Amino acid sequence: MRFVTVIGNRPQFVKAAAVSRILREHHEELLVNTGQHYDDELSTIFVTELGIPRPEHELRLGTGTNTAQTARMLTALEPILAAERPDALLVYGDTNSTLAGALAAAQAGIPIAHVEAGMRSFDRCMPEELNRVLTDHMSQLLLCSSDTAVENLVREHAVGERVMVGDVMVDVAHMFQPRALGDDAPLRDAGVEPGGYVLVTAHRAGNVDDPVRLRALVDLLLALPMPAVLPLHPRTGARLDAAGLLDTLQAADHIRLTPPLGYLAFTALLVRARAMLTDSGGVQKEAYLAGVPCVTLRDTTEWVETVDSGWNVLVDLDRDAALAALDRTMPSARPELYGDGHAADRVVAALDRLGTGSSAPHAG
Ligand code: UDP
Repeated sequence: MRFVTVIGNRPQFVKAAAVSRILREHHEELLVNTGQHYDDELSTIFVTELGIPRPEHELRLGTGTNTAQTARMLTALEPILAAERPDALLVYGDTNSTLAGALAAAQAGIPIAHVEAGMRSFDRCMPEELNRVLTDHMSQLLLCSSDTAVENLVREHAVGERVMVGDVMVDVAHMFQPRALGDDAPLRDAGVEPGGYVLVTAHRAGNVDDPVRLRALVDLLLALPMPAVLPLHPRTGARLDAAGLLDTLQAADHIRLTPPLGYLAFTALLVRARAMLTDSGGVQKEAYLAGVPCVTLRDTTEWVETVDSGWNVLVDLDRDAALAALDRTMPSARPELYGDGHAADRVVAALDRLGTGSSAPHAG
């Protein structure tokens, strides 16, 4: 079969790293990078570090409002799908690239497979939530990371075939986290010792676009009782700068600002952090897999199992709650919540069946 896979940002490069190699052993795949977020340099690091095939189509569409960005992607994807005539389209996660890829394919009558289907925060103010719901309801193949995701799709009567495959990010974490434990350079560069710092990421629109919430985020970071390494997402950097808060963070001794990091450097910092503070979806999972306590700077999460198991606490931007969460006692058990690290094999097996028209028994 011939697949077009649409990716566009950091976590989608990570997910493609798990799937593309195996998919290409059986099928033809063309990768389209919308260039939703990042400059060439960072995309290149991800491609080389993670062994992702170089995208056949680089659209370099850049940022903009969600609506404008999605519209530009649709316009760019339509002729590519018409020219490449794939048997199916593969998308990951919940970004504007996910939605645009799915909508362009649906309108061209091309079947869609969605990896990370069924995730829900139940917060329709998040652009990601809209992208997830809409993509799921256009997809023929719903590839789920968790039982919760399967249940969400059953409840919503999504018509596609549901398959519980596990989480493809686990495959990548299993490959790279052990190696990252021996990589001291990123800790040295940040001036931190193993177990003696927190790692922080924040870039959700709901946290950084509103100046009042951005100020609350900065106050929380300033109150942290230990060194905090903060690789700055471009969106966050721009908002901090516009609000005059970048200098405030730069002046704080315990805050170590860095540019966005490649996956290996970031993972090296993650696996030896005392705790992870984040509003990212993928990073909550990666912290769980590394056995690093997570404090999530949101009031909802799609990765509810990490909270139920005691490894993750939702504090929104409440400074005192965050400080208390950093002090909490951690559970001893860490069950295998998101699969065994072989999700990509199951994704490709499900895609094989899409080609033959045979379906697996519905999950859930
Ligand atoms: N990540 C990275 N470098 C960084 C920050 C994050 O490689 O400086 C990786 C991280 O390990 C995870 C992914 O990027 O695999 C998460 O991306 P992001 O937070 O942008 O996306 P989300 O999961 O929130 O959609």
